[in-house]
Amino acid sequence: MLRHSREYALQLDQLDELAAYRNEFYIQEGTIYLDGNSLGLLSQRAERSLLEILDSWKSYGIDGWTNGKHPWFYMSESLGEMMAQIVGCKAEEVIVTGSTTVNLHQLVATFYKPANGRTKILADELTFPSDIYALESQLKLKGYDPKEYLVLVKSRDGRTIEEADIIEAMTDEIALIVLPSVLYRSGQLLNMKTLTEEAHKRGIMIGFDLCHSVGAIPHQLHDWDVDFAFWCNYKYLNGGPGSVAALYVNEKHLGREPGLSGWFSSKKEKQFDMELDLTPETHAGAFQIGTPHILSTAPLIGSLSLFCEVGMEKIRKKSLQLTQYMMELIEHELADYGFTIGNPRNDEHRGGHVYLEHPEAARICKALKAEGIIPDFRKPNGIRLAPVALYNTYEDVWKTVQILKQIMKEERHKKFDNERGVVA
Ligand SMILES: *Cc1c(COP(=O)(O)O)cnc(C)c1O
Repeated sequence: MLRHSREYALQLDQLDELAAYRNEFYIQEGTIYLDGNSLGLLSQRAERSLLEILDSWKSYGIDGWTNGKHPWFYMSESLGEMMAQIVGCKAEEVIVTGSTTVNLHQLVATFYKPANGRTKILADELTFPSDIYALESQLKLKGYDPKEYLVLVKSRDGRTIEEADIIEAMTDEIALIVLPSVLYRSGQLLNMKTLTEEAHKRGIMIGFDLCHSVGAIPHQLHDWDVDFAFWCNYKYLNGGPGSVAALYVNEKHLGREPGLSGWFSSKKEKQFDMELDLTPETHAGAFQIGTPHILSTAPLIGSLSLFCEVGMEKIRKKSLQLTQYMMELIEHELADYGFTIGNPRNDEHRGGHVYLEHPEAARICKALKAEGIIPDFRKPNGIRLAPVALYNTYEDVWKTVQILKQIMKEERHKKFDNERGVVA
């Protein structure tokens, strides 16, 4: 059977041991959803847990904090236990709280302690803008000019960052490093274990933004000895729009005073003593600030149970096969149409999505959407295609490449303007 035939794709689907999980998701008839790295789809389990939480509000009012199937007062911690399996750490090292950017603020406020000539923060120039804005404001709060004190590792090719360049930038002026696990455009996966070792050899703290790897890639945050990490739960983890995020703090740092405190930083037994002296929690819960957003946390109860049940190894294996297959088909079918595959090819450096570059990327995305295929566009010239292990099929990948070929052949994209939408 030809590897580029539809029959071959169908055979891969038949052999796929995760195939049945697709039935648990709401997939719009006639669409192929390849944007699970921006906003994951709703699962029946997530819907159910959200409705259960609404129901406990209906039934218990204020007593929902301690009664019902999922008492709200303990939800951040009980979800942390599930999350620990997903990111490879101890339950006490992780808490479901805040948003990505707020958690970054919290962690930098906690771990950035400029002293003895170590005053600068190291990041990279391809990082997500929100992270840069947060780092700059943290520097300004300490009276440092970000132009001088935020060091950004440069990209050599505009797509990826060389790990050797990051290591070279780990000078004795650097107090703290914040890097993405997977770069949001090119999907490059950085070697977190090696970078952590290299940072620690030089006495530098290091943390990672896991937004584009959590739920797609296995992590061993504890064993790699990563100091801290933070991530959103609405991308591969399917927690829903604006879903509550999470953070991890290595066990050796637990007990540190949170940089940004609030009454939810308290030891749980002490919180309602309402003392003016804060007694912080001894686990990662200390890095919470205020009342948890219960309704935006609720879908995670159902959603994370899927990930714990399947396990990250199987998810990664299928994800790599899907993206590998997609790249192969793209090379075979689209060679004449001016595309460049901008993501790293090898498994060790490839995240969960394929990054296709084309000068007319914006209008090609619009043409794909008109055909029921949901990618996303990233400035200046990128089409991100994320076939997701739990709900995409090999046939989805095959059809996508076929439709893309038709669009290019018939120049259907020319009907659209080449500008990005408000939310690209
Ligand atoms: C999605 C994403 C964010 C989003 O941050 P929010 O605070 O959730 O808006 C931050 N960083 C990276 C790398 C992302 O991919």
